[in-house]
Amino acid sequence: MPTCKSCGTEWTWRQTVKKTFSNMKCPHCGEKQYLTARSRKKSSVVAFLAPLTLLFSFIVNFSSIVTIILLIGLSIVWFGLSPFIVELSNEEEPLW
Ligand SMILES: [Zn+2]
Repeated sequence: MPTCKSCGTEWTWRQTVKKTFSNMKCPHCGEKQYLTARSRKKSSVVAFLAPLTLLFSFIVNFSSIVTIILLIGLSIVWFGLSPFIVELSNEEEPLW
């Protein structure tokens, strides 16, 4: 789980999911936190899997219901794993 770089408190899984989709402010000290360039790269790799799944199902000719189930499964995995990928920083880092 990510640790706040300002107060050193570890965020819980639920807090991390909530904060990733909202304002990224630490629930303990209120300081704004940013994703590190490394964790942003990692999450973009995971986000890349969705179009790949679509492409794959197109090639293999899965029925649309299988594709939908695959995509839902993928987003559940992404949700479940993202707090483990997230690393926090006090400043916004350039991606490259
Ligand atoms: Zn904090």
